[in-house]
Amino acid sequence: MTDQSVCSMVNFLGYVMRNLFSLLLMTPVIISLLSSCSIWEQLGQTPSGEMLSNYGKSPHFNQETQVFENRIPDILEKMNERINWRLTLEYFSSNSSRRVPDKPLPEVNPPSLKAFLRPTDSTRFIWLGHSTLLMNIQNKLVLLDPVFSNSAAPVNFLVQRFQPAVLSLEELPPIDYVVISHDHYDHLDMRSIQFFQEKRTKFLVPLGIKSHLTYWGIPAERIIDLDWWSEHKFEGIRFICTPAQHFSGRTGTSQKTLWASWVVDSPNTKIYFSGDSGYDEHYQKIGDQLGPFDVAFIDSGQYDERWREVHNMPEEAVQAAIDLKAKKMIPIHCAMFELSLHDWDEPIKRSQQAAKELGMELLTPKLGQVVDLALKNQFSPWWEQVQ
Ligand SMILES: [Zn+2]
Ligand SMILES: [Zn+2]
Repeated sequence: MTDQSVCSMVNFLGYVMRNLFSLLLMTPVIISLLSSCSIWEQLGQTPSGEMLSNYGKSPHFNQETQVFENRIPDILEKMNERINWRLTLEYFSSNSSRRVPDKPLPEVNPPSLKAFLRPTDSTRFIWLGHSTLLMNIQNKLVLLDPVFSNSAAPVNFLVQRFQPAVLSLEELPPIDYVVISHDHYDHLDMRSIQFFQEKRTKFLVPLGIKSHLTYWGIPAERIIDLDWWSEHKFEGIRFICTPAQHFSGRTGTSQKTLWASWVVDSPNTKIYFSGDSGYDEHYQKIGDQLGPFDVAFIDSGQYDERWREVHNMPEEAVQAAIDLKAKKMIPIHCAMFELSLHDWDEPIKRSQQAAKELGMELLTPKLGQVVDLALKNQFSPWWEQVQ
């Protein structure tokens, strides 16, 4: 069993125990939810047939087992040996109430779209929580791992977000490109994807994700699917699909779609987005081949020693930024969903400590704050206002 499925399971079991009575009262609602076609639609469409056979060209696809693999092919098997029933027991016996903030996180709401959209030679971004980022890269709008739904799970009573996003899908300015790192629910959200069905937005995705997107109504000609180390250029911006150490699947660990990090290289700024990843030598390799980076957004939350192969520990995330030759780092994959056992604010506190020790400049924007990479931005310790 993997971290995603374990986390979903412990979240679900915890929910059942804490809310058994109300859950019984809600049974008719739940039955109707489960019987609606939406849950099946949420699972997406795992690639098969011709699409799957085309992956034969990818050096990361194992023809024998028909799955994508990490650099160390058996790294997930080793991790799974550590994940067992004790984890569920620990979840129930732990009394920590700090996995979720006790009140809404401070935010800039509404964000200043006027300042964000003003013509620029630089790059601006707004962090919308977890790994969702809205960017203005020299006047092209890029949305990374958009998750606007209430929950990061196939049913909306599981893995609920801490608070609504500072912008709704309808409030977004016209998006030129959507970039997806992998098909887990906290990165690939069906409702957010379907919003772009009738728009002109183009999608850049790792191999296999195209199958989910076309199933949800996105025309195939608007989707560019890439293997690690391949790239596509749109209007002067290079989108380079780069490695990550993780896994994939919306129904467990199918591994039939690829997981990735991304480099977005425009004439004036170079950005790295880690997707989900454990610490490995790929950071150094990407830094050597494509660095230095003006800024690196790195997976710094939802970690645990037992699944450190697929999510950096905060100290490793800072080291990753150094390996990448990034000038600045922003911790992401935190502060919106409870997918691990740590306190909600631990990722940012540990990242800050590690950045201080290792000499990395850490940017810590509030939700909704417009950050301009060409300017001196002000950051406050907003997490200290919430327990
Ligand atoms: Zn993931
Ligand atoms: Zn994730």
